[in-house]
Amino acid sequence: MLKNIWYPTDKLFIGGEWVSPAGGEVLQLENPSDGTPLAPIARGKAADIDAAVTAAQAAMDGEWGRTTALERGRILTRMGQLVLKKVDELGIIEAHDVGKPLTQARNDAIAMARYLEYYGGAADKVHGETIPYMDGYTVYTLREPHGVTGHIVPWNYPMQIIGRSVGAALAMGNACVLKPAEEACLTALGFAAIAQEAGLPAGALNVVPGLGEEAGAALSGHTGIQHISFTGSVGVGKLVQAAAAQNVIPVTLELGGKSPQVVFDDADLDAALPFLVGACIQNAGQTCSAASRVLIQRGVYDKLLARMADSYSGMMVGPAMADANVGPLISARQKEIVTGFLAQGKDLRLAAQGSIIEGTPEGGHYVVPTLFANVPPDHPLAQNEIFGPVQVVIPFEDEAEAVAIANGTDFGLVASVWSRDGARQMRMAKALKAGQVFINNYGAGGGVELPFGGVGKSGHGREKGFEALYGFSVLKTVAAYHG
Ligand code: NAD
Repeated sequence: MLKNIWYPTDKLFIGGEWVSPAGGEVLQLENPSDGTPLAPIARGKAADIDAAVTAAQAAMDGEWGRTTALERGRILTRMGQLVLKKVDELGIIEAHDVGKPLTQARNDAIAMARYLEYYGGAADKVHGETIPYMDGYTVYTLREPHGVTGHIVPWNYPMQIIGRSVGAALAMGNACVLKPAEEACLTALGFAAIAQEAGLPAGALNVVPGLGEEAGAALSGHTGIQHISFTGSVGVGKLVQAAAAQNVIPVTLELGGKSPQVVFDDADLDAALPFLVGACIQNAGQTCSAASRVLIQRGVYDKLLARMADSYSGMMVGPAMADANVGPLISARQKEIVTGFLAQGKDLRLAAQGSIIEGTPEGGHYVVPTLFANVPPDHPLAQNEIFGPVQVVIPFEDEAEAVAIANGTDFGLVASVWSRDGARQMRMAKALKAGQVFINNYGAGGGVELPFGGVGKSGHGREKGFEALYGFSVLKTVAAYHG
């Protein structure tokens, strides 16, 4: 059990109070770094989701519904400031819960604070417009909250995803029911404690941990929610969309990816190298936007591949608190999935692998970072989201082939282009099938201002930036006839 948790871990947060789940059951979190029990969490089920939706609706009908945009912004800003004060605690909690190296876990807390600061500042800057119309009319639009919004989040970046999704929804005046992942939900509960301390009115945020097929399914099919934001796998995304369809409510789906980085012969290879490798290996490859495919033009292929291989050979894997390059995977199940993919790579050219730090606990879920070269674009390792520290390198001849390979998966989340040729950069940015395209970088530092989301099986709807505020609101048109 972690010592620095200042809030209850085995409770739900409903209507501004810490309560036990109706069924009285708990689940056990595991520390992925050594496989030991970490903390008990509440096993929320349908009855608890019901209570949370009721509390959220009461908040909409009560104090929260009357809170001005200015005040909502101030509360979110205070929440961001409190998160910043707790970066050390939250970082340690997340490192133990998710298994991510401590520096990365701390950075997630800093990013969450930044989302809250951004949406706090934006809360009173989203407004409707007046529309010139026929004589005798005044027409204007109002941006209103949906009402009660559901948020189902995964375990890989809890703080960032909660910050961007719940932060934007609260900024627009919605009341939220958050269902964090059963594998890692401690910082979601910490977020509730911070909201309480910052003075968020009761019921505006409700947090119900529990299993996906229990609490998650109950939330996505609940008739009392007016919008659902889901971040997770394609398979569950389809279930959530189907459930939302029954209630005819809008859905935001942030799903998986197989994101490519495309490196041309004229690229600045020194600048590219850290991004090519780092954008896949971060969080042990368990990132929706992991750049798990690197496409390299023939002229620089051998040279760049050798440099990438060197980076992999120097990579160290170890427990989260050792703050190595790569931590463990989230669970034994995830390790099994990733090692299954590695087995499918037997026929491929293994370019390099990292190594495990001596003394790393046997019970942790470690997989060494692995780089495969000359991978055929239609190989399962080049087509499927692996969600582990595994990267494939694919050679190409020319721009047309690069586009065909880059666009040749079911996904379309992120892509990047490395080239010094301005015209080619623009052509590629247009041609690539992705929600975000980066030129001579990858991720642009993760800026909260940059709208994010996918095309194809990577999902639909946009989070981050102002787009999220539009997504978490409804436009109402008012046409007044006054003669
Ligand atoms: P997952 O789909 O298994 O779980 C995500 C969430 O859905 C969890 O909270 C889980 O409890 C819940 N859930 C599970 N079954 C459910 C059901 N039947 N009904 C409702 N909710 C249910 O995903 P995961 O394995 O935890 O996360 C990994 C996936 O998430 C990857 O595919 C990754 O690419 C994706 N992801 C996407 C983004 C993005 O922004 N696009 C960000 C992070 C992760």
